Amino acid sequence: MVQVSLNKISKKYDENYIIKDISLESQDKEFIVLVGPSGSGKSTIIRIIAGLEGDFEGELKFAGETVNDLAAKDRNLSMVFQNYALYPHKTVFENIAFPLVIKSEPKAVIKEKVHKVAEKLDLMKYLERKPGQLSGGQKQRVAVARALIKEPQLFLMDEPLSNLDAKLRTSTRQEIRKLYQELNSTFIYVTHDQIEAMSLGDRIAILHEGKIQQFDTPSKIYHEPANTFVASFIGSPPTNLFEPNSTLFQALKGEFKLNQEDLIVGIRPEYLYLTAENLDHEDNENAEIGDDSEQSLEGRVAERTSSRLRRTNDRSVLNVHEDHEDNENAGIGVPVYALEAELVNVENLGEEILVYARLNENSGKLNGSEYLIAKINNAEYLQFLQGKLSFLSPESPVKLRLFFDPKAIYLFDKRSGMRIS
Ligand code: ADP
Ligand code: MG
Repeated sequence: MVQVSLNKISKKYDENYIIKDISLESQDKEFIVLVGPSGSGKSTIIRIIAGLEGDFEGELKFAGETVNDLAAKDRNLSMVFQNYALYPHKTVFENIAFPLVIKSEPKAVIKEKVHKVAEKLDLMKYLERKPGQLSGGQKQRVAVARALIKEPQLFLMDEPLSNLDAKLRTSTRQEIRKLYQELNSTFIYVTHDQIEAMSLGDRIAILHEGKIQQFDTPSKIYHEPANTFVASFIGSPPTNLFEPNSTLFQALKGEFKLNQEDLIVGIRPEYLYLTAENLDHEDNENAEIGDDSEQSLEGRVAERTSSRLRRTNDRSVLNVHEDHEDNENAGIGVPVYALEAELVNVENLGEEILVYARLNENSGKLNGSEYLIAKINNAEYLQFLQGKLSFLSPESPVKLRLFFDPKAIYLFDKRSGMRIS
């Protein structure tokens, strides 16, 4: 167990910084995840912590002591890499035992410790096999066992699950978290996979272009993204980002009391709702939706927005309803904003439906993506939609009105990308 602290760590190759001023501090026994796209500097950072990168700027401390010049072998840590790097000619037993063999520990002790970790990782059956006779998941468990046997104060893992198929990745992820709970060690774990990061980390550091974009708990990162990069990186599908048209811009400025010159709006796909109007051929006042009291917010908002919009003569590109007092909206209790878009594709994934649409220019301009994506995952609303999906076939152009509750959006400063609300 050790508290790890990075203070303004930078590293450059040929005058170019590949990581710059990285500062982060783990608590003792904390599970920290470094996540970011390929090339963002994750491996460089974890290798610096491991003592595998010599030339860097800044200060690295373990438990308050500077370790910049401490040799890797003296750092009392273990590292697991993406490629398992097992010795092909040694058995599983010998591979796991290796760190103790080079320390010349007594044979009886080695055997006892190998058995202990092999049991923990369900490897007892394979101790006499060579790595070539193991599956990817088993090899990875051997690599973890070999790291475990040193009983390190600090565990470093660099994309340890990348070579595994999706199902095995999910189950191994659970095992790693369980292992962490059993051990008394600090974990620093690198991945490019945001779901892995969110499910494993006590806190997550999001890296982009060699800089930490945000370092916080999964919940804070999801609900309060620091900037447009974090908003678009975390969440699946990613947050929709767009520059609003001037009507919406003015309305949002008023509502949020801002004096920004330019804004980027962020809406998660699950907060972008299809109006029933989009689906209702017959215009029959949404008879299928059913009783108000039994309905979810989504259902109610869809229905009311729909009838509200239908009655509005203003068929312009954007409908902004700010009239809180309006009886029509009483059940919703919020102003509703709608974006106009054209349907491109619908993916029916069973437990959710993804709607891809092209944002009309006069509603706004998408920032960094081609399509606006709405995710429908509310069970009740899904059921309502299932029967209507044929209408959402993009063979002939289908106009969509996608609405959102301003409480559910993020606003970013366009120039800096930082979140302002
Ligand atoms: P990640 O692990 O996030 O994919 P890395 O830390 O491996 O990223 O690399 C960060 C950046 O540093 C990349 O752009 C990579 O090309 C560059 N880089 C890594 N090692 C070297 C090296 N030995 N020489 C020059 N550039 C390097
Ligand atoms: Mg890497």
